[in-house]
Amino acid sequence: IPVDPFDLVIFGGTGDLAQGKILPALFRRFCAGQWAEGAQVIGAARTDYDRDKFRNLVRNSLESHAGRHSQDTAALNAFLQRVDYVTLDAVADHGWAELAQKLQPDRVRAFYFSVGPRLFGPLAERIEAYDLTTPQTRIVVEKPFGHDLESARALNATLAAHFRESQIYRIDHYLGKETVQNLMAVRFGNMLFEPLWNSQYVDHIQITVAESVGINGREEYYERAGAMRDMMQNHLMQLLCLIAMEPPAKFDPDAVRDEKLKVIRALDPVKPHHIVRGQFEGESSSYRKAVGNPRSTTESYVALRAHISNWRWAGTPFYLRTGKRLVARSSVINVMFKDAPHSIFGADAGRHANALSIRLQPNEGITLKVTIKEPGQGGMRLVDVPLDMSFAEALGAENQDPPDAYERLVMDVIRGNQTLFMRGDEVEAAWAWTDPIIAGWQARGDVPKPYESGSTGPGDAELLMKRDGRRWQGIN
Ligand code: NAD
Repeated sequence: IPVDPFDLVIFGGTGDLAQGKILPALFRRFCAGQWAEGAQVIGAARTDYDRDKFRNLVRNSLESHAGRHSQDTAALNAFLQRVDYVTLDAVADHGWAELAQKLQPDRVRAFYFSVGPRLFGPLAERIEAYDLTTPQTRIVVEKPFGHDLESARALNATLAAHFRESQIYRIDHYLGKETVQNLMAVRFGNMLFEPLWNSQYVDHIQITVAESVGINGREEYYERAGAMRDMMQNHLMQLLCLIAMEPPAKFDPDAVRDEKLKVIRALDPVKPHHIVRGQFEGESSSYRKAVGNPRSTTESYVALRAHISNWRWAGTPFYLRTGKRLVARSSVINVMFKDAPHSIFGADAGRHANALSIRLQPNEGITLKVTIKEPGQGGMRLVDVPLDMSFAEALGAENQDPPDAYERLVMDVIRGNQTLFMRGDEVEAAWAWTDPIIAGWQARGDVPKPYESGSTGPGDAELLMKRDGRRWQGIN
C-alpha cells in the first residue's frame, strides 16, 4: 500500500549510515511501489556536493547495498530522479534557506538525524528558526540515545523543547526486524503459549545476541561505549520487554510502550556476582590491539542474570548475553520450561523439559523441543525431538524476501506509526537500570575477563549458569 507523499530530509546524507542503510531501504520500498507520486528524499550534509554528485554517490551505494533491485537500471534511474541534495551546516546558517525552498507545504515532512547526537540540538533549533515544522513533521533519531541517564535526559529535553513526543521517532533497528515483531504475534496470537508464560511454568529465559564480527571502523565509539551500552541497554532490553511484557490491550504505540516501560521499571538492580564482562583476545584478533589501547577495560561481551519483580515473573531468572567475535552470528531467545512435576516412567527414563527457541537470525524460525519415547525395544526411555519451523520454508517463496528493519521503520515514520520506536521514558528507564551496573564496575576497578576470539565467551559466563544448575543453549 503506497504511503502518503512525503519529503524526507536526511541530515548526514553522505554518511555511512545514510548510504549503507537508509537510502538502500528507501530504494527497495520505491521498487515495491510504496512511494506516492512526487515523494522525494533530500540529502543534507556538510559535504560540498551538488545534486548530480550526490546522485552519483547514491547510485554507487545502491549498487553495493541494495541487492538484486540495483540490477534494475530503469528503477534505479527513476529513483535517482527523486533524490536531491543541499549542502548545509547543522551549526551555522549555510544551506538552510535553500532547504526551506525545496520543501512542499502540505506533505508528510520527515527529518532523519543521521548524525552524531551533539548535532541533535543545533538541528532542532534551526528547524524551528527556519519555520520548517508543520503539523505533519516528524524527526527520526539514531542510537546511541545518550551515554547514561543524565545525557539521555538532556537529549530528551533538547528535543522536547522543539517537538512533541508524538513527533519523535527513536530508532532501535532491532524492533524493525520481522521476527522481533513475530515475537508478539507468537505470544499474543496463539492460545498455546500465553497460559504457560509465567514463573509457574517457565524455569528461566535466555536471550543471546552473538556477533562473529569485531568492532571494525567503530573503535573510538565502541571504546567509550562497550557491550553494555552498545547492545544490552537497548537491543537486548527491547527483546526482554517484548518477551516479558503483559498483553497490551491493543497493538497501538502507547499501549505497547506502556507495557514495555512497566517491565523495565520492574527490573531489580543486578547484583555484581550476577554479571560477567569479557574482552576478546587472540593471535589474529584482539580487542586491545583493535582499539590501540593495551590497557583498555571496555567490555566486548557481557552476560547477566536479571530479575523482574512482578506477579508474572517473580522467581524466573532472565539470562542475557551479548558479545563480539563469538563463534557465530546468532540471535535467539530460549524459553526454558520446567520439568514435568512427576515422572511416571521412573528415574531411568531421564528427565526432560520443553524449550521454545525463537531464532531472530539467521534462519528465522521457531523450534519447540518436545519429549517422546526413544524408539526401539526394551523399557521406556525418553528423548527430546525438535518440532522445527523455519519461517522461510513455512511461508513460501513470495515471503522469502521480507522488508529489512530499516525499510519497515522508515515507512512507519512516513505512516506516523510509533509502535516500533522507543519512547523517551523507556530510554530513560533503561539507562536508570544500566547506570548503577557501570558505576559499580568503575568503583571496583573491574577488568573484563579475556575470552578467545571465535569462542562462546568467557568461562565465567558458563559458571554464572552452572552455579544455578543450568547451562546456556548452544550458539549456532
Ligand atoms: P558518518 O561520520 O559516516 O557521517 C556523518 C554525516 O554527518 C556526514 O554526512 C557528514 O557530512 C554529516 N555532518 C557532520 N557534521 C555536520 C554538520 N556540522 N552539519 C551538517 N552535516 C554534518 O556517520 P554515520 O556512520 O553515518 O553515523 C551517523 C549517526 O548514526 C551517528 O550518530 C552514529 O552513531 C549513528 N549510527 C550509525 C550506524 C552505522 O551503521 N554507521 C549504526 C547505528 C547508529
